[in-house]
Amino acid sequence: MTPAEQSLAFARAYHQLTLLIAATPPLIQFAGWPMALPAEKPAPRKIPAADLLKSWADGHTGVTLSLRDAVRGITDYADWQQTYTEEEVGAEFLSRYGYFELVGPSGHFQSNEVRAYIAYWGENLYYPWHQHEAEELYYIIAGEALFEAAGMPPQILRAGDTRLHTSNQPHAMTTAGSPVLALVLWRGAGLTGLPRMSAEP
Ligand code: ZN
Repeated sequence: MTPAEQSLAFARAYHQLTLLIAATPPLIQFAGWPMALPAEKPAPRKIPAADLLKSWADGHTGVTLSLRDAVRGITDYADWQQTYTEEEVGAEFLSRYGYFELVGPSGHFQSNEVRAYIAYWGENLYYPWHQHEAEELYYIIAGEALFEAAGMPPQILRAGDTRLHTSNQPHAMTTAGSPVLALVLWRGAGLTGLPRMSAEP
């Protein structure tokens, strides 16, 4: 892909995300939606999850197919992150997990009002208890996972489902036979922060 084609692919992903958020009341109510401009990013950072996401065809619904395809178009050029160390989550976890910030303070599109991550977890992974100051809304783009949070009953989320985490509410996630691809929105205080591991509640 030429740089111009890459810019177009990212614009397509931003556009599909905008359409999805506008059409999904819990998403637009959570954070509104900024007019974010493309930001200068360093060279893409590839991790194994980028290729796993690209080759995964199942687990989607009609509503999220356009965003999935747009996301696939940028997996090779995204600034993939993992945050956690092998000591915290294990090598197995890091071999099938990753996310990138499509919109946000350090995203591919710059906003200081909201953060929108695209995050992928492969099958049979346990994302240990963690927390962060920013409020968070998960939206499942594809696949499914079991979500746990302090003070809430556990719940399996599938494509189209949402779940809110309040500020510093510890939460954990487990995948079984299916990967999960999620849109993760952050808002409020701690927007520029990162998650940290927390004790099991
Ligand atoms: Zn979280």
